[in-house]
Amino acid sequence: MKEKSNILIIGAGLCGSLLALRMAQRGHEVTLVEKRPDLRKETQDAGRSINLALSDRGLKGLRLAGVEEAAKKLCIPMHGRMIHDRKGATFLSKYSGRTNEYINSISRPGLNMLLLDKAEKMPNVTLKFNHGCKTVDLENASATFKKYDTNEEVTLAGDIILGTDGAGSSVRKSMFNHKKFLFSFSQEWLTHGYKEISIPPAEDGGYRTYINALHIWPRGEDMLIALPNLDGSFTVTLFLPYSNSDYCFDTLTTREMVHEYFNKEFPDAVELMPHLAEEFFSNPTGPLGTIKCSPWSSYGKTLLLGDAAHAIVPFYGQGMNASFEDVVVFDEILEKFSSEGKESHWAEIFQTYEAARKKDTDAIADLAVDNFHEMKEHTASPLFQKKRKLETAFEAEFPEKYYSKYSLVTFNENITYSDALHRGRAQDKAILNLIDDGKLPDSFSLEEKLEKVKKETEEILHDD
Ligand code: FAD
Repeated sequence: MKEKSNILIIGAGLCGSLLALRMAQRGHEVTLVEKRPDLRKETQDAGRSINLALSDRGLKGLRLAGVEEAAKKLCIPMHGRMIHDRKGATFLSKYSGRTNEYINSISRPGLNMLLLDKAEKMPNVTLKFNHGCKTVDLENASATFKKYDTNEEVTLAGDIILGTDGAGSSVRKSMFNHKKFLFSFSQEWLTHGYKEISIPPAEDGGYRTYINALHIWPRGEDMLIALPNLDGSFTVTLFLPYSNSDYCFDTLTTREMVHEYFNKEFPDAVELMPHLAEEFFSNPTGPLGTIKCSPWSSYGKTLLLGDAAHAIVPFYGQGMNASFEDVVVFDEILEKFSSEGKESHWAEIFQTYEAARKKDTDAIADLAVDNFHEMKEHTASPLFQKKRKLETAFEAEFPEKYYSKYSLVTFNENITYSDALHRGRAQDKAILNLIDDGKLPDSFSLEEKLEKVKKETEEILHDD
């Protein structure tokens, strides 16, 4: 007979609700506890990444729990980056030369609600909202919560605790504050913050700009992006330095300044955002940072997953995808232990999981910072555009032979993030050097260019 445990999951965001569903499907008794009210009953504050890019790794996690098809109904395919220059001219830079590879815009609350609905239907899941975790007793797998509706304090316990309470994790803080073992923690902030603004639907309910793309207005130091929503609107995110620039969050303090800045940098976007200044001042400015820590578990009783273990900046669109992939990797390890009759050997399971996973979440954290620079600066550069054109041609012509770094990370769920980082970076270096040095002349066929890029990539990988 399969061993069953009582699992207390803290944080019912994207990772926690998928994890709860999967752990219940594995037969465990799950209590899923969330600080906020039930988002299916109460509308939550706007201004925090309303929609997200969902791609293959995330879809794999949803598939594992049998919710991929339901989630796909909430998705809008985005086939490439629609790049807007200062004069309003646009061009589509495809994410991949393979036609079946694209990313999806999905509503964060929509996906979270779907996962909560599915988890709630399981007879072995209990959901508790309005319970904010204050501290965790790591040695005893129990946690103290404040109930926001009654102000009471309650303690809940399990055989184990899975901490999925996001980037500001209370579970992680309990590990950090615990004096009996060494806990490493780093938090690096970008000099930029973000703010969300909306493009409402057109008068006839349609979309005011092209629907099937992730729109980007790259401006060197700052950048605007927009992702479509099912209701005809787009959610726009401005990435801007906090200070030390003519236009930054510190200087954009009046309606006039906001309009001056947007008219100068993003004139074609201004036309689409009738509530620009109101939303600029009413929506919060969010920080962007990378959090790394270890160990992720303590006493074989508590484990961190998702952003609680590894928060990353959003420029690869991979934070949620990586968190869903955590569930896949954790499940694979449970499956292995289960086949050996050891599904409740939690200390060993947690260590095996971290040993398998940490290098990959470190890799996607670093790739996400790389992509910050790529998106705001390089997408507009002729050299970068030449490289992307060549890469999409390789992928279209030789779909089995070439995967760009973006494709390795985004569309190739069978390669780990760390392998994608090593191969992708070497390939980028190879292709940029070859173009820059004029070593891929027009007289070469596409196949000859591919061979040259591959050879150069292998040499770089060999030297590393
Ligand atoms: P969260 O989604 O943050 O969920 C944590 C949950 O825990 C929340 O419900 C919270 O209320 C709850 N909680 C917090 N503290 C407590 C407590 N003390 N007690 C109980 N409950 C608690 N990722 C992508 O894959 N694609 C994207 O395009 C993308 N875009 C992004 C854009 C922006 C601007 C940002 C900031 C992030 C983006 N991400 C994206 C990252 C993504 O949002 C996160 O990686 C993902 O939400 C992580 O899921 P999680 O469940 O670990 O954390």
